[in-house]
Amino acid sequence: MAQKISMATPLVEIDGDEMTRVLWQVIKEKLLTPYIDLKTVYFDLGLLHRDATNDKVTVEAAEAILAYGVGVKCATITANSARQKEYNLQHLHPSPNATIRAILDGTVFRKPIVVANIHPTVVTWKKPIVIGRHAYGDVYKAAEMAIPSAGKVELVYTTKDGKEQRILVANMDGPGVVQGMHNLDDSITSFARACFLYALEEKLDLWFATKDTISKTYDGRFKEIFQQVYETEFKARCDAAGISYFYTLIDDAVARVVKSEGGFLWACKNYDGDVMSDMVASAAGSLAMMTSVLVSPRGAFEYEAAHGTVQQHYYRYQRGEKTSTNPVALIFAWTGALKKRADLDGLPELASFAERLEKATLSTIEGGLMTGDLAKLASPAPSKVLDSWEFIDAIRATLEKM
Ligand code: NAP
Ligand code: MG
Repeated sequence: MAQKISMATPLVEIDGDEMTRVLWQVIKEKLLTPYIDLKTVYFDLGLLHRDATNDKVTVEAAEAILAYGVGVKCATITANSARQKEYNLQHLHPSPNATIRAILDGTVFRKPIVVANIHPTVVTWKKPIVIGRHAYGDVYKAAEMAIPSAGKVELVYTTKDGKEQRILVANMDGPGVVQGMHNLDDSITSFARACFLYALEEKLDLWFATKDTISKTYDGRFKEIFQQVYETEFKARCDAAGISYFYTLIDDAVARVVKSEGGFLWACKNYDGDVMSDMVASAAGSLAMMTSVLVSPRGAFEYEAAHGTVQQHYYRYQRGEKTSTNPVALIFAWTGALKKRADLDGLPELASFAERLEKATLSTIEGGLMTGDLAKLASPAPSKVLDSWEFIDAIRATLEKM
């Protein structure tokens, strides 16, 4: 075999849980390490190790991404009470993605991976819709309280020199719940900038939507900042590139998206992006056919799959079955990270290997070899459904031919 491709700076490698953790190793063994002298700084975010370190490992992984610039992350379990029992956990830590995003700040861009033999469920979609999800604040960093009985709930803001400003949330006449959330002008501004830069780079129109008719101050601020960033920093460049910026209400946006041809970047607030990216991914084909990258305003990039740990498949795998779990989004997380590393370090060989691996993956599917989730959607339907291991071997064979 030819000499392996070398790397300069290591990637921050963040391992995860269940089925995606199993496939992570197979991808490295079959598709990466035979070709690349892979350098990584490894963090084990498997649930038990997060628990054993009191979640310190999650914070260390995020800090390493800031230090090295590029990370690649496997899917991880967000612990809940069922998981606490299942894994006998000491603590219930927040979602690792939420912890990492709170440290990196930034925007998550999610783009469907398109293959010729799979058509979107939404028949009008001709081009992929990219979601730009704000990754800081709102309900993901909120304070919540259960209110046991009737009483007054207020929001209180105290300035650094001790002055108070308060506003009534509700005079509650019985038990209920309350939530306080926030965002920062700086974070919203960098969200807007990241979206305009992405739109310019990919030559896509930019859509943004909130519910500013109801949330006049909170969502209103998002709308204002986007408009201001557009007018003061990007309008001339967008005009020159023939790109438009379009603002509307979130419910109107949803209706328009479904009737559109696609081919634009849809900037979404944190929660909208969480929900809408799964909708766009499923309608475009499969959750496993979507790339996801977190772009931090501090100059760091984290690549991951948009789907979870594929829990039910993992239980089948544990019972000794070979599952047909689709590894494409995990492969593209690695290729995305390798391409970014190659770009930053000036390593054209590494970049072209990552490109080749992506092409090999797509052309394997287009050649009729695929996992079960895609087999249900492909036209023509494949004669046989491959398990994950057979599919990865098929990609390897395509890669060898290239
Ligand atoms: P999931 O892992 O995304 O899986 C949901 C369903 O989608 C699967 O049961 C499967 O459908 C299908 N699916 C997802 N990825 C697939 C793939 N690669 N190949 C084939 N089918 C795929 O979501 P979940 O079951 O709701 O969550 C499982 C765990 O993942 C949870 O503990 C959650 O906390 C975690 N999670 C992590 C992340 C992350 O780290 N980024 C994101 C979301 C969820 P079928 O069963 O019909 O085949
Ligand atoms: Mg989600």
